[in-house]
Amino acid sequence: MDENEKIFLTRKQVLDAIRMDFVQYESQFDLYQELCPILTDSREFISQEGRNDCLLITRGKKSKTRRMNDQELGRYLLNTLKANSYPLSVLAEICSKVFRTTSWTGRHGKTGVNGIWIKTDMAFFKCRQCGNCCRNLNYQKDCTEKDYRRWKTLGREDILEKVMIIHHESIAPEYRIWIKLDSSQLYTECPWLVTASSKGRFECEIQDVKPEFCRQYPLTRKHADMTGCRGTFGQQCS
Ligand code: SF4
Repeated sequence: MDENEKIFLTRKQVLDAIRMDFVQYESQFDLYQELCPILTDSREFISQEGRNDCLLITRGKKSKTRRMNDQELGRYLLNTLKANSYPLSVLAEICSKVFRTTSWTGRHGKTGVNGIWIKTDMAFFKCRQCGNCCRNLNYQKDCTEKDYRRWKTLGREDILEKVMIIHHESIAPEYRIWIKLDSSQLYTECPWLVTASSKGRFECEIQDVKPEFCRQYPLTRKHADMTGCRGTFGQQCS
């Protein structure tokens, strides 16, 4: 498999990536239900109670039932994951479920560290220019210092005037995009999204210098699936 079709994560990086996944996507009840027996060696399982609640049930003599909502359950599973030193083979199984892709144990070629390889499925991703990401993603807080500096260096005043800078006394400034010129309101849809010449397609007016966040989207196939991306992932797709 080509190097750019897979990524390597250390044990710590796996935990960070799973935490980010749980925070980023709400309502992953089906996933949590699959993970619970793996994380607890089948001592605990989850059943759904109504729309937002579930029951965490401990088997055995000290059987008990706890009611939790989806977020509490995510935190509980994450804490269980952090508190135990699972074999890498189990972590690989967990990664396959969380990231909806193939994961396996292995050694990093350069560092020699043991960890988890994760197939990214992104090597042949092709954007269909549907514009869904530009309309629906919550990108407002994802402008970075690096983006800002790049636009400064290029003298892109047209872009800079749509960036709000939030200054802080002791920490680095934060940036918000994109702000309407005649008010302090942020656009709800990206203002750089324009209709393309091909029917039903859209393009970015600042494609060559767009923010890093947009450049990297979608990070994974799951990211695409969870955020309404209509791109394709096969080598043969146009
Ligand atoms: S949602 Fe996916 S397919 Fe649509 S424009 Fe964004 S990256 Fe392209």
